[in-house]
Amino acid sequence: MFIGHFGLSFAAKRAAPKVSLATLFIATQFIDLLWPFLLVFHVEKVAIVPGYTKTNPFDFLYFPYTHSLLMGVVWGFVVGSIYWLFKRDIRGTVVIGLCVLSHWFLDLIVHTADLPLTPFGDYKVGFGLWNHVALTLIIELIIFLAGTYIYATFTKTRNKIGKWMLWTLVTLLVLVQVGNTFGPAPSDSVMKLFVSFTTLMAIIISIAYWVDRNREQA
Ligand SMILES: [Zn+2]
Repeated sequence: MFIGHFGLSFAAKRAAPKVSLATLFIATQFIDLLWPFLLVFHVEKVAIVPGYTKTNPFDFLYFPYTHSLLMGVVWGFVVGSIYWLFKRDIRGTVVIGLCVLSHWFLDLIVHTADLPLTPFGDYKVGFGLWNHVALTLIIELIIFLAGTYIYATFTKTRNKIGKWMLWTLVTLLVLVQVGNTFGPAPSDSVMKLFVSFTTLMAIIISIAYWVDRNREQA
């Protein structure tokens, strides 16, 4: 899943108004942010196999430290605790922890049966929606647009930046989703994947930070 995760971040702003949208983006995408680092250090493995699913070419050979259910719980505790140490905001801490864990459950809908329950077992799950292009896009867009609507109405803009940057962010995320679904397969090189993915995420998270600074609770 891609923009669905961001949709949940947008919606989570309503549950934890003190937390920046950028932090909520980091939370729902935390395990995907960690993933390229583990790939570069050969801890986890992926193969690019064009046509592997109908919507993307990723064959996730081994990624139990980022994408197992158990580690989702662990990372939720870790990221939530880090936030608590800095902000002492218990509501924000709980929402951030749950956002981190939500990644696994949203991925469960779209991934083929490649998501492990624990790093120790071989049992893997996934409903495989990635093999249905239209359904994948519909589910991603419903979650994304519902979340965006919640954020756009729960907050109001302080100035023009808060308005136009929000729509820039929304447009960018939809374009990336469409590009991922219909565009060419990415390079097979782990290093290139690392650079392009982390750069894209850094841009998205920076814009989210900028958007949130220029908006306030309505
Ligand atoms: Zn993921």
